[in-house]
Amino acid sequence: MKLDPSARFATLCIHAGQEPDPSTGAIIMPIYQTSTYVQDALGEHKGYEYARTQNPTRAALEANVAALEGGRAGFAFASGMAAIGAATSRLESGDHVVVTDNTYGGTFRLFERVLKRYDLHFSYVDTGRLDLLESAFTSKTTMLFIETPTNPVLGLTDLAGASAIAHRHGASMVVDNTFASPALQRPIEFGADLVLHSTTKYLNGHSDSVGGVVVAQHDADIEWLRFYQNAAGAILSPFDSWLVLRGTKTLAIRMAQHNINGLALAEYLAAHPKVEHVFYPGLPSHPQHALARRQMKGFGGMLSFELGSLERARRFLNRVRLLALAESLGGVESLISHPATMTHASVPPERRAAIGITHGLVRISAGIEDVDDLKADLAQALDAV
Ligand SMILES: *Cc1c(COP(=O)(O)O)cnc(C)c1O
Repeated sequence: MKLDPSARFATLCIHAGQEPDPSTGAIIMPIYQTSTYVQDALGEHKGYEYARTQNPTRAALEANVAALEGGRAGFAFASGMAAIGAATSRLESGDHVVVTDNTYGGTFRLFERVLKRYDLHFSYVDTGRLDLLESAFTSKTTMLFIETPTNPVLGLTDLAGASAIAHRHGASMVVDNTFASPALQRPIEFGADLVLHSTTKYLNGHSDSVGGVVVAQHDADIEWLRFYQNAAGAILSPFDSWLVLRGTKTLAIRMAQHNINGLALAEYLAAHPKVEHVFYPGLPSHPQHALARRQMKGFGGMLSFELGSLERARRFLNRVRLLALAESLGGVESLISHPATMTHASVPPERRAAIGITHGLVRISAGIEDVDDLKADLAQALDAV
């Protein structure tokens, strides 16, 4: 089986990076659960020496995700945070990074509490506004770190505009594409130099693995990431690599249903008298709806809405039955959460307020259940508000 170079996205999801196993013909990449490989003779081996450095199951996943993102090479890590650590590992002391202000909390913590100790500098700006983004650049800026859409208020950044600014200043652009997945948005097509994911979310899609991946485009990044992955050693295990490979096979069809359910729930909530506001890039009321239509192939399964107060949010969240009260996102099952006290509890209150994370804000990760069952659950829980 040879994959045609013009294969389309859903075909790449299922086949990219995977050949039938040469020794048995097994259609599914085996879990190569081994720490080392026997060498034929001194200095002669099959390309595999030690499993931190090379593992066939991990290599298949890396090739698969690289193809999905339209990049040249992928590197899988033990978590999304380990992938972000890898993506920032080429920075050198004194460097300055411009970051989306509403970035994932763990990213903010890594930058502020760990990387700052190494004389790295970070500015957090609303990258949804290209004028603010550009004015944050200094002569020391070597990286622009973008998240779009953001969590939990679904703000967008114009990827083509942002990469043009970064490159004009001699900086590289890194995009955390966890929220959209390559089914909806492929940042490399808009000029991104590195794209990364927490595979824990949509790529794996079944809430049963923690992992991360970085996809690179340029020789220097690819060489460095190969070296760094082996040197720092935070690799994804063979079993988790296999789980994520199994997940990406259904990415195209899962995302199509996440889009349908996300939009249906957003429209349902926007029309409900007890809901003050809905944040969803697929609604014409979203201030960047036109940009969403331009750079995304669908609007995804993430949405947030405002209930007005902590008390109303509490009553509502204590009544939902089908939607599970939990952190995380991107799985086939719908999750619901309260950002101010859960995912964003460690963000200082004044920063929370600036981003729009109020005590009445509720976030949904719409799964792929029958959407009428999800609406019925929201309806009965809203009755309690
Ligand atoms: C979850 C998440 C991460 C961190 O990934 P882990 O797998 O939990 O380490 C990074 N970025 C975004 C946008 C996420 O949602």
